Amino acid sequence: MTPTLELISIQYALALLVGQDLDLRTMLRKFLPSTLKLLNCRSGYIWLHQHEAVVGVDLPEPAYSYPALHGGVVESQPALSSHLRRIVANGWQVKKPGEIIQIDSCYYHLLPIGTSGLLVLLRDPPLPDTHMLALGLVLKRLETACLACLQHAYLNEARQEALLAQKAAEQAHQAAVQANKAKSEFLAMMSHEIRTPMNGVMGLTDLMLYSEVSPQQREYLDMIKSSSRALLDIINEILDFSRIESGSLTLNYAPLSLRELIRDTFPPLTLRAKEKALAFHWEVAEDVPDALDGDAGRLRQILINLVGNAIKFTERGEVAVSVTLQSGVAVGQACVLFAIRDTGIGIALDKQASIFQPFQQADNSITRRYGGTGLGLAISSQLVEMMGGHLRVESDPGNGSIFHFSTVFNLTVKPQTPPLASARLTLLQADRPLDILLAEDNAVNRMLAVRLLSKVGHKVTVAENGQEAIAAWLVKRPDVILMDMQMPVMDGIEASLQIRQQELARGLMSTPIIALTANAMSSDRDRCLAAGMDDFLSKPFNAQDLLDVLMRTCN
Ligand code: ADP
Repeated sequence: MTPTLELISIQYALALLVGQDLDLRTMLRKFLPSTLKLLNCRSGYIWLHQHEAVVGVDLPEPAYSYPALHGGVVESQPALSSHLRRIVANGWQVKKPGEIIQIDSCYYHLLPIGTSGLLVLLRDPPLPDTHMLALGLVLKRLETACLACLQHAYLNEARQEALLAQKAAEQAHQAAVQANKAKSEFLAMMSHEIRTPMNGVMGLTDLMLYSEVSPQQREYLDMIKSSSRALLDIINEILDFSRIESGSLTLNYAPLSLRELIRDTFPPLTLRAKEKALAFHWEVAEDVPDALDGDAGRLRQILINLVGNAIKFTERGEVAVSVTLQSGVAVGQACVLFAIRDTGIGIALDKQASIFQPFQQADNSITRRYGGTGLGLAISSQLVEMMGGHLRVESDPGNGSIFHFSTVFNLTVKPQTPPLASARLTLLQADRPLDILLAEDNAVNRMLAVRLLSKVGHKVTVAENGQEAIAAWLVKRPDVILMDMQMPVMDGIEASLQIRQQELARGLMSTPIIALTANAMSSDRDRCLAAGMDDFLSKPFNAQDLLDVLMRTCN
């Protein structure tokens, strides 16, 4: 074979051994032993600068060696090690590519792998020139293959790290969702547990107010009632806030009459202002349309919070509400600006942003002086945002504040604002006495409902759980069932489902079922209706609410 032909055939054979794999060890394992065999060498070592070096060791171990080094390069190749130390100290530079060092009877060929590493081959006698030349040409290719492998490993590692980070983020998200769920469940449970006895307190107070009592007793009972109401407001605020946080609060849009809503909302606040000798007036500009599409309950809640605060934080002077029309909206819409102005204590400039954060109050001493949870403005500002507006404050400490927000309403034609239930002083006798089946496990609430319903002329049969309710329903066939949701043995949902099933199977007329429940979430209402119940009354309810829902359902 001519030298040229030999060079080409060796170069070809070597080239075939390079870059067959993207895993560095596998690639070098396929390359080095075969190359040694082809070039008739004893052994070979490959160092790569980017390959992980062992920290604290003065000479890095080879990325690959054949045959395998026992005990490391320093122990197994002490003579080579001293040369290597020189090369490493010199920044991996060899005197010239292909430098050959003779140690004992062996020739060490030092061949740079581009600028990325070093190949050392042991042979006796030294490699012929053709082999050296062929090898030199292949080393560039080996460098590319090594870099590709290192890059591949780096990418794999980065991908693994990204996967781990993504997994950790998912786990953290899951934990946060779980914690939020647990918190919401806890609040719902707390709300249920508090509402049940509150129903007893408020209901029995109502019942006593409907009976013959002395003026002083009436005064005490009114105080019990307003204290219970205040406690309930706090529970409702905490529940609202938790719903906003978990994103489960939604607005219920319906046609409303703006002037009617304001007329219904402000009388109790007027009373509060009067008690503090404050002037309280409000004005709705004439050009503000009356029939709007909005969430009356939530708009009322925002106004009560803002006007309530204005009265609470004002010692003298006045509180004024103005409702005006803003321009610049599409036909069929109205942008309405609500402004609540007071001449009260005002809010320092550096506190004006934080009061919209939950649990924040302008001043700690304020909490002690005026009370409050610090949730009202956080809830109101979130509700205003949900209505598409922003709640803002301008304040002059010592002289008063103005809270204002504007929201865009769609215009409607038929305003139907549900009026606030006004408590009557006497209970009217029922037009039509009903046979009522009451399923309720709480003894106080059971007694309360029985007394109240009997007082207006209804006949009540009681059951203490869902199973008893089904049995009583089968025998008595009442006109209506008042069904508590949470009961031992069988809950109200299951009992209602079974009653509806049996009605269907036996071709019976459907008995109206009204859920009476201390679960105040709107999802609970949906669950009741889905189980075939007809209406829903959440505890605590007043006597009139109960009689109204009975009238509504049974007529
Ligand atoms: P709360 O009134 O229950 O403390 P809010 O969220 O309604 O909670 O109000 C937060 C704080 O904002 C109040 O504690 C008070 O410091 C301040 N604030 C709200 N409205 C007014 C107002 N009209 N005048 C002065 N300070 C107010």
